[in-house]
Amino acid sequence: MKLVRFRTASTLTTLRTGILLDDGQILDCSAFGEDYNEEFFGSNGLERFSNWLELHREDTFGIPLDDVEFAPPVGRPSKLICVGLNYARHAEETGAKLPDEPVLFMKATSAVTGANSALILPKGSTKTDWEVELAVVIGDRAASVSEEEAMDHVAGYTMMIDFSERSWQKERGGQWVKGKSADTFAPLGPTFVTRDEIPDPHRLSMSLSVNGEVRQNSSTADMIFGVPYLISYISQFMTLFPGDIISTGTPEGVGAGMNPQTFLKPGDLVEAEIEGLGQSRQKVVEQRV
Ligand code: ZN
Repeated sequence: MKLVRFRTASTLTTLRTGILLDDGQILDCSAFGEDYNEEFFGSNGLERFSNWLELHREDTFGIPLDDVEFAPPVGRPSKLICVGLNYARHAEETGAKLPDEPVLFMKATSAVTGANSALILPKGSTKTDWEVELAVVIGDRAASVSEEEAMDHVAGYTMMIDFSERSWQKERGGQWVKGKSADTFAPLGPTFVTRDEIPDPHRLSMSLSVNGEVRQNSSTADMIFGVPYLISYISQFMTLFPGDIISTGTPEGVGAGMNPQTFLKPGDLVEAEIEGLGQSRQKVVEQRV
């Protein structure tokens, strides 16, 4: 299943839940009555929803994709954990050594937004950069789990663009979190795809273009640390909760690695795609305060 959360032009204030059908329509399943959040994932929600859908398929109606504004496909997670330098050629382009252990950092969960929403350049930003990433959504509480058990704790996958203000990330002292956490810096979606639809998360093509020019074009096969390893590793340091998101790092082709370095400016269009997870378009706008 491909789960979506969305708003329509006529009900902009109301968050609706549904699924994306193969014909491109969205099936409004709001009558199920639950949001796709920590409580949902933690109470066997995917199975309950799937059973509900079987019974109520006839009463649900389709909405054309054009009439929909995507919200993030899962409710705000308790944690948004990111993996840095998890693709060898990306580590190289940033001048960093290959890590011996996964590099972890957090992104503020308030940075989360939906697919196709605007990327707002925060005031004072001069080096906002792009990173397309496979994101794992946790389905089941995971504390100190082994690599062998790790995949049992995965609910599914979504795409995240890990927008990053490089000068705030690297030139302002302290941790990367400053450059990673502005509002709209974490578009998720468009869909949340259940684990059964992605038998191997390590063979998905991924790409990102800016104004139609391809900047990143790679595959999750190039990850240094794979999904089960990352889940097991992170769960040694903190408990992962249902709905938590692990963004697994980006391949080469970011703006900071270009010569000369190139960053986003108002009017730019960022388009990203991961095989099986869909596409997202972010129009870059200036912050208006
Ligand atoms: Zn990243």
